[in-house]
Amino acid sequence: MSTVVQLEYVGDLAPYDEEEAALAEAGASLTVVRAADGDALVEAAGDADVIWVEWTPHLTRDVLERLPKLGLAIRWGVGYEQIDVAAATELGIAVANAPAYCTEDVAEHALAMLLAVSRQVVFRDRQGQQGLWRHGPAKQKRLAGSTVGVVGLGRIGSHVAKVAAAFGATVLGYDPVVTSPSVRQVGFEELLASADFVSVHVPLTAETHHLFDADAFALMRPDATLVNTSRGGVVSQAALVEALDAGRLGAAALDVFEQEPLPADNPLRGRDNVILTPHEGANSPQSGRDLRRAVYGATVEWLRTGWTDAIVNPQVRPHARAGR
Ligand code: NAD
Repeated sequence: MSTVVQLEYVGDLAPYDEEEAALAEAGASLTVVRAADGDALVEAAGDADVIWVEWTPHLTRDVLERLPKLGLAIRWGVGYEQIDVAAATELGIAVANAPAYCTEDVAEHALAMLLAVSRQVVFRDRQGQQGLWRHGPAKQKRLAGSTVGVVGLGRIGSHVAKVAAAFGATVLGYDPVVTSPSVRQVGFEELLASADFVSVHVPLTAETHHLFDADAFALMRPDATLVNTSRGGVVSQAALVEALDAGRLGAAALDVFEQEPLPADNPLRGRDNVILTPHEGANSPQSGRDLRRAVYGATVEWLRTGWTDAIVNPQVRPHARAGR
């Protein structure tokens, strides 16, 4: 019997009845563990054939080297920076994700945040709750006719581009890999200099870490809004705070942070021109259902056939540990 280990984070995915039933049919059992660090993970998951990773601990090279049976590591989500893919590939371990379970959710969240800033929904809600009526000058902006810059034109970014265009915005896109027929693609610097709203949809990699740094903020318009629903590490929070403090950036809407949960004393809190959601962009009952099916579906397929299309390092195939 194969062993699948669920590396649980806060327990919001439990219970696992659906997963257990699907795995049992494929001759596998599910073990749920919580591990404080890599050593605890190795101790608890040492005989795992498959590991499901939520957030922590990360499957670093050091950890992967101590998991001799592991054939497949799956991230519960789109981004998989929690797994050292280069090390996994060298060791013959396949890595997979759930690439499309929340595309619309995150795109809608990014647009909801963009509109919340442009229409000052959160700021005006605070006034409404306090009984203030038509208080202060109108600083709302019209999205129609504005320029929206989309950085990363993959699944989520291209959906954002499509909906922003439907609102009547001019959409510019930047992506070094993907060519999108329906978006005018420009260089990164031109996008930053032109956009009223910049929405970020790139994976967190060595190349995208702090893609938005002081240099990037210096290129943006002083009244521009940054929307980040991708990963916190793509934006230097220190540079963002500095740009906001200096009036070199108009507003920010953030769902993701360099440190999560966002510490209580973080200087991004308490500002009228910043809105913060606690990494909720992907969530809905629909995406939750699709995520579960994607994770156990890919596992069952791999257990039965030795492969699944959800694998992100296909170069592992010739020397995959459990490939058939
Ligand atoms: P995707 O793989 O379909 O698209 C990512 C795109 O980014 C690709 O087209 C890629 O070419 C592009 N890219 C890579 N490096 C770039 C760079 N330096 N500049 C510009 N573009 C670059 O992924 P997706 O489904 O669109 O998701 C995007 C990211 O959103 C994920 O990697 C994940 O980290 C994040 N995400 C966040 C949540 C959330 O809850 N907030 C949920 C899902 C995904």
